[in-house]
Amino acid sequence: MSLPTAVTDDVRVHRSLAARVLTGVGARHHVVDEVTRIGAERVLLVATRSASAAADELATELGGRLAARFDGPVVHTPVSVTAEAMELVAARSVDAVVAVGGGSAVGLGKAVSARTGVPQVAVPTTYAGSEVTPVLGETDEGVKTTRRDPALAPGTVVYDPELTIAMPAGLTLTSALNAVAHAVEALWAPDAVAVTDALATEAVGHLLDALPDALEAPGDIHARSRLQSGAWLAGLCLAGTTMGLHHQLAHALGGTFDLPHAELHALLLAHVMEHNLPHAPSAAERLASCVDGDPVAVVARLAGSHDGPTRLRDLGVPREGLAGIVERVVASPYPNPRPVDAASLGELLYRAW
Ligand code: NAD
Repeated sequence: MSLPTAVTDDVRVHRSLAARVLTGVGARHHVVDEVTRIGAERVLLVATRSASAAADELATELGGRLAARFDGPVVHTPVSVTAEAMELVAARSVDAVVAVGGGSAVGLGKAVSARTGVPQVAVPTTYAGSEVTPVLGETDEGVKTTRRDPALAPGTVVYDPELTIAMPAGLTLTSALNAVAHAVEALWAPDAVAVTDALATEAVGHLLDALPDALEAPGDIHARSRLQSGAWLAGLCLAGTTMGLHHQLAHALGGTFDLPHAELHALLLAHVMEHNLPHAPSAAERLASCVDGDPVAVVARLAGSHDGPTRLRDLGVPREGLAGIVERVVASPYPNPRPVDAASLGELLYRAW
């Protein structure tokens, strides 16, 4: 992803996005008021199957304002799936989209809005953070393209921690570490500013502190609220800074081998932190201030506790596939505090494998 042109060694540009954000237990019951406020009368409700209970409830509350429902969002927003949703948009004269679910549902909401200009309400049920970013990644026949435009960010976001209680332990862990990755990369980003440093530090503190509690007691609403707040802050970090080596590796590996988004981020993060932090002293200092112990060890311990895949090989990545990833990343690296070279990157990937 390219840097805003006005960033130099001395001058950094930070852009904030306007959004109306509702947060708190029961916030989901205010979605209809928000739809009314934006003047929409014919809503497309997009929901992942895992969010079907929340979507059913919302459908009832929307009543006559519900024009159509689409239950088939797919990870990485394939354009063929968006085309199916667009048929409903046209056939039912949709004038707003409400997305309930993880990053896949929110991504489809963004894709529909990008094609029609209709306003979006995002109701996230994971910690991916897409609801507050101006970024949309879409895949067409396996090729992923990502664009960044302030108009892509949902104008209304509704955070209700009760919608995250049903997340299984594995998704809770990996999705929260995906959020930690957004915050960690913001700390060493070339366009980090006071605001993103503060957001990132607070995000990491909430996420790493509340995660063990939520894993121990999934229904602990206080822990869930803190994780969701951390995810919001981390999403703002992703929105406000340029991604580095961690996200580049996740994109390259995920796109090449079609890997699950949050699990991949979760297993890579400690390896990239170990690789980069000696070259990013102020990020290291901030992380040390908000974590009990060595930040790399804390993240590695959490990631290692996942009862799903914890190594690239467990995700099905062939060892002989690593060299191609190294070659692509070294050819065109995202900005990173540690210069990206083939030898050290190969070592990092092999350790993660
Ligand atoms: P996801 O939305 O694909 O959800 C993962 C799985 O968890 C799905 O099976 C889903 O049905 C289920 N799920 C979601 N919420 C649940 C809940 N509360 N309880 C139980 N199950 C639940 O995964 P994700 O990690 O949230 O999002 C990944 C997608 O989002 C990818 O396409 C990624 O590229 C995109 N993303 C985009 C941005 C951005 O800024 N554009 C940021 C982060 C992620």
